Amino acid sequence: MGPQRAGILNKELGVYSFHDLLYTFPYKYVDRSRLYRVSEIDGNMPYIQLKGQILSFETFGEGRQRRLVGHFSDGTGIIDLVWFQGLKFVTSKFKTREDYIIFGKPSVFNGRINVVHPDIDPASELTLNNMGLQPFYTTTERMKRSNFTSHALEKLMKNLFTALQNERMDETLSQQIIIQYKLMSITEALYTIHFPKSPELLRKAQYRLKFEELFYIQLNILLYTKEQRRKFRGLVFEHVGPIFNTFYSQFLPFPLTGAQKRVIKEMRRDMGSGRQMNRLLQGDVGSGKTLVALMTMLIALDNGYQACIMAPTEILAGQHLETISKFLKEMNVRVELLTGSVKGKKREAILKDLLTGDVQILVGTHAVIEDTVRFSSLGLVVIDEQHRFGVAQRAKLWVKNTCPPHVLVMTATPIPRTLAMTLYGDLDVSVIDELPPGRKPIQTVHQFENRRGSMYDFIRKQIRDGRQVYIVYPLIQENEKMDIKNLEDGYLNICEAFPEYKVSKVHGKMRPAEKEEEMQRFLRNETQIMVATTVIEVGVNVPNASVMVIENAERFGLSQLHQLRGRVGRGADQSYCILVTGYKLSEDTRKRIDIMVETCDGFEIAEADLKLRGPGDLEGTQQSGVAFDLKIADLAKDGQLLQYVREIAEKFLEEDPEANKLENAVVWQQLKEMRKKNVNWSVIS
Ligand code: ADP
Ligand code: MG
Repeated sequence: MGPQRAGILNKELGVYSFHDLLYTFPYKYVDRSRLYRVSEIDGNMPYIQLKGQILSFETFGEGRQRRLVGHFSDGTGIIDLVWFQGLKFVTSKFKTREDYIIFGKPSVFNGRINVVHPDIDPASELTLNNMGLQPFYTTTERMKRSNFTSHALEKLMKNLFTALQNERMDETLSQQIIIQYKLMSITEALYTIHFPKSPELLRKAQYRLKFEELFYIQLNILLYTKEQRRKFRGLVFEHVGPIFNTFYSQFLPFPLTGAQKRVIKEMRRDMGSGRQMNRLLQGDVGSGKTLVALMTMLIALDNGYQACIMAPTEILAGQHLETISKFLKEMNVRVELLTGSVKGKKREAILKDLLTGDVQILVGTHAVIEDTVRFSSLGLVVIDEQHRFGVAQRAKLWVKNTCPPHVLVMTATPIPRTLAMTLYGDLDVSVIDELPPGRKPIQTVHQFENRRGSMYDFIRKQIRDGRQVYIVYPLIQENEKMDIKNLEDGYLNICEAFPEYKVSKVHGKMRPAEKEEEMQRFLRNETQIMVATTVIEVGVNVPNASVMVIENAERFGLSQLHQLRGRVGRGADQSYCILVTGYKLSEDTRKRIDIMVETCDGFEIAEADLKLRGPGDLEGTQQSGVAFDLKIADLAKDGQLLQYVREIAEKFLEEDPEANKLENAVVWQQLKEMRKKNVNWSVIS
């Protein structure tokens, strides 16, 4: 192809070579092997294909209700093609009385059969008889403008296969694996994925390619972990000593839950094992992770090491300091706070005392990972709400001691197992699956925005009973000005509606000190209502707050909604979450709201989130530094295959740990190539 088109392929799809092109897979297929007749169609059929003409166009309705109907016939009957969008485009592109092949899913509306937003192609452009499934490729706006359509890509692909006809494609898996797991050859799989002769063959090709993709990812992670373990011995925390024991027997304000005990034991075992602990602690909001972190840190202290805990925001770091200082009030442990706003003499003093080891526990934000912060003997790092910390940031911590410190990563955003496996590889996972006793599940309701009156009555009643209320507005970075305006308007409305109460306001644009002051006022119950953006999302703890109102709830993702809801229900009182939305909701939004109303279980919500959004979108994964450019496997759907393939990769590594077997050469070579391209895949530590 000419340089111009090649340039478009480079830029738009990242395709530079035949290989790249071969691995540009269709996103869908259309079964073009069969034509139906209009007279056969009923509303319950899957996708169908018809050949015929549009007799006439008609428009109905006004404004948002407007729709275009094309009356379509093949001589055996008439059905309606319906468009709600792109009306102009459709009427200008498609002519009446010309032969088209249409494709779509029939449904029944007002007693007539409809196909909404069908695919339409001029009949002359499709060759039906030998086509089987027709591939459809993703194209970008720019490609469409240059008439570089899916059809064009399809042709390109055909040409490529013709040109390659006499070339054998190098196999990318060993013969043994191919035979043992009954996989298609790579040559056949690549051809079939573009031009499948039947749905069965397509499935086989997809299976082969997914298998391969997941196999190498898992092999890479397993190998990486193995190497890591060989390289890094862990600090050995031999005993639990007087600091832990004194705290446990004298100052623990309440009995630990069973889950907290179990998790502490798991970590104690890790830290005594001689290898570096890398543990992910998942526990729903309010499950008591901070205390677990603290007690783990005390074990480090007992063994003569320092510990540090990092939080994503200054507010949170401040709260951690307060919580930890309170717990340790009667004990002789030096705890200090280090954030960006700790400056000058104070900062110098802390830095100095970290180096001598006088500061035993350091609480901080990412300021802690700056190069100037050096420890005497850092033994344990706790990272709270980890998804705010990128991989590169975490990696900076490991060099803070000659032997890398143990690492505990805590999160209230439960990560589904399949994702954790790919994302964090061999990170060990602990779960706190039990809330402290006496917590009542938060009652969640959905409320349309035009019915604020009754909601305000409810809020008033709660405040009269001594409770406090959060009202949260969404923050979308692209339009900060709008967001602030939203928040300001909301704030004014609330002040007007509740003249008898004091209202706080907090948003991300405020100076940390101001923010802190407002938070403190709310915490002291000097203000009863907190109007805020999502800055309060993570960790903030005001046990007296019992109502969480989320405005524009449709603009939040599931995990964020769950996080926000977790700000209430922290005391013994019944708490409530009110999700406020407009009337018009997309299907996805509706599902999100329904899930929130139905369950408070973070894992259920995380699984639902994965299903609804797909893994690339999951909060955290984008910032985690892991490239999620899976070409064909889908973590939301291929969980079982992932599990299966992981076991195969484990077995493979067990049988050929030193890469000695000749028959595996192709696998090792393949892995090497992949590692060259893919830096830091599973690197969490
Ligand atoms: P999260 O897991 O969301 O970080 P926190 O550590 O903030 O939860 O704990 C939430 C609240 O529960 C805190 O007020 C904490 O003191 C309290 N808490 C923690 N463990 C227990 C327990 N075993 N029994 C009773 N309350 C507990
Ligand atoms: Mg917490």
